[in-house]
Formats: sequence, C-alpha cells, structure tokens
Amino acid sequence: MSSKALSAIIRHELAAQEVAALTRRIGVKLGHCPISRTPADNEWMLDEKGRLKTHLWQAFNHREPSDCGYGEVGLGEDGIADALSRGSEFACRHCKRAYQLILRRKKARQELGNARRAIRTIGRFALAAQGGAQ
Ligand SMILES: [Zn+2]
Repeated sequence: MSSKALSAIIRHELAAQEVAALTRRIGVKLGHCPISRTPADNEWMLDEKGRLKTHLWQAFNHREPSDCGYGEVGLGEDGIADALSRGSEFACRHCKRAYQLILRRKKARQELGNARRAIRTIGRFALAAQGGAQ
C-alpha cells in the first residue's frame, strides 16, 4: 500500500473515531439535562420518534414567523446557541454544551466525508491502473 493510501485511511479512521467520541459525549451531556432526569411518564415530553423534548430539542424545533411575512422558520446556529444560553427561553448549560459538541461533530463529519472521497479517488486510480472500470 502506498503511503498516500495509508495516510488517507488513517485520516478517515481518525475522523470516524472523533465522530463516535463526540456522539457519546453529546449523549452524556443530554443525559445531564434536568428534563432527561425527569421521569418521561407524560406523552407530551416525547416527540413522535420517542425522543425526549430536552431544551436542545425545543431550540431545534422552535419556529417563529419568517422575516418575509410568509410561513415560519427555525433558529439558525447562532439563534440556537442564544436560546440555550443563560437567561434565554431554553436556558440549560447541559444542552448548550451538547449543542457545542454537535457543531464540532458537524465539522468532524465533513472531515470524514472528505477523507472518504480521498480514499475513493485513490481506489478509482488503482482500479484504472489495473485496467478495471472507473
Ligand atoms: Zn437541557
């Protein structure tokens, strides 16, 4: 295996491990949210997919009238971060930390996608060099 191919595989593995680690950490943070610690014995606490309506869930699902006057829009990245901050509508330090980790995971997933494309490019060249399909 060429060093370029090995580097691409290592890059992919590092990104995959980071995504997995961040996913675990997000779960831990959301588990510390006071809403998560309340027994979910009321249906209103769960969404249609059975997910608990944490502060983070509420910020993600918050809708407000759009600026153009038609329909509703969700919050952008800054709006979600603000809504989870102290003194705001869905203030919760655990959900806010989870959201920061979600943003980091988003970047890690982009890196994972880039690494996957690099590996596929190497694979296509290797296949073509053997006279296979491209
Ligand atoms: Zn929370």
